[in-house]
Amino acid sequence: MITVLSGGTGTPKLLQGIKEVINPEELNIVVNTLENNYFSGIYVAADIDTVLYTMSDLINEDTWYGRKDDTFHTHDELKKLGFDETLRIGDKDRALKIHKTLLMEEYSLTKCVKIQKEVLNIKANILPMSNCQSEVTIKTDRGTMSFHDFLIRESSQPKVLDVIYREVEATNEVLETLENSDHIIIGPSNPITSINPIISMPGIKKILKKSYVTGVSPIIGENAISGPASKFMKAKGYEISPIGVAKIYEDFLDHYIINTTDNKYNSSIKEFIEKVSTENIIMKTLEDKINLARMILNE
Ligand code: GDP
Repeated sequence: MITVLSGGTGTPKLLQGIKEVINPEELNIVVNTLENNYFSGIYVAADIDTVLYTMSDLINEDTWYGRKDDTFHTHDELKKLGFDETLRIGDKDRALKIHKTLLMEEYSLTKCVKIQKEVLNIKANILPMSNCQSEVTIKTDRGTMSFHDFLIRESSQPKVLDVIYREVEATNEVLETLENSDHIIIGPSNPITSINPIISMPGIKKILKKSYVTGVSPIIGENAISGPASKFMKAKGYEISPIGVAKIYEDFLDHYIINTTDNKYNSSIKEFIEKVSTENIIMKTLEDKINLARMILNE
């Protein structure tokens, strides 16, 4: 059994490869819930929905947010009514979010996601990391703001001084799944706001330490491929490089994969991670994704 820890952009690209390589019924995906919250009256679990759309081939690969071929009539009408939606949510995407919001009146987030993944005919197991409501704020040189205000209203422009979030509890399903996994894969996601929220929940690091864990760097050279990972790593005092990411995971990583152009970091990382491989980890085509998945899974 394989378990992948995921955020909502880098790791879903890898999932597109993994799902072509292994039987999806043997695949578990533990998804970050740090940024989940209510927007425009509906519950938005952005990373979970991205994984749902990725696994059902509905994802909008231009934004890694929402569905491909969506329309925005409701969003446009809300704006005409003078309502300033923080998030630009498509009509079909909004339907999934309304459905989840209604289900949540009765069920836990874990159960709602299980219902939705079955409706979408997804065979893999998709598990929200927690059923608890997270809180995350970004301390910047322009003041302290919510994650989405930083990301969307401020376009990730302010200088980040700190990323502050409350620790939450993992679900029993997540703990059991990780315990029973033969291989845990930390995908190339934001180490501070996507992976750390998962691995810092009580009990998770203990399981990771006794499991075989492979990690893929989301940083190539001295830059993230997309998003604010570099700013967040800097604010937390980590070097922005594949070494900085490895330092975050050093207590439990068995195998670490960095980009072919980053060979120069190999020997420094080998001082504290047993196995380091270089590979093309920039996933542009399906072939890139499948090759990386095969390499990780040794298939
Ligand atoms: P978020 O939830 O939208 O922040 O997305 P994630 O946390 O899953 O992913 C963000 C990270 O994915 C960024 O740090 C990017 O550098 C990384 N990323 C995006 N595309 C790729 C890729 O093709 N390869 C690798 N290695 N990392 C990627």
